[in-house]
Amino acid sequence: MTSPLVWRISRESARLIGYKCTSCGWVSFPERKRTCKRCGAAPAEFEELQMKPFGKIISFVIQHRLPEGFQTPLPLAVVEFDEGARVYGEIIDCRPEEVQVGLEVEADLRVMYEENGLDIYSYKFKPRRGSA
Ligand SMILES: [Zn+2]
Repeated sequence: MTSPLVWRISRESARLIGYKCTSCGWVSFPERKRTCKRCGAAPAEFEELQMKPFGKIISFVIQHRLPEGFQTPLPLAVVEFDEGARVYGEIIDCRPEEVQVGLEVEADLRVMYEENGLDIYSYKFKPRRGSA
């Protein structure tokens, strides 16, 4: 099963390649689905889409009780990329009280470890700061 904290994605997904439904524009990420979740096209036709690492927080929780080894409090959020795809990830580089719905964030993809010769990446998101 997929851990909520470490998302196993391929190297390709780490380059933020999404799959856009040619009928309605819904973006599937990180996997190419057979059917479109929005318009129901089956099999759906998807075209590759290079996404940008920017999005905003749709909802979040602050985890206070986690197994030993995790740092708490730990903010976890559903982030919607500007292209529309939604993912679940950890919010980093900010204080828990800064996390709020609508906060603009930037994806930070890090190799967590290697498994069977595959790099395992984890999504983390940090607030967009500065002049943006
Ligand atoms: Zn569609």
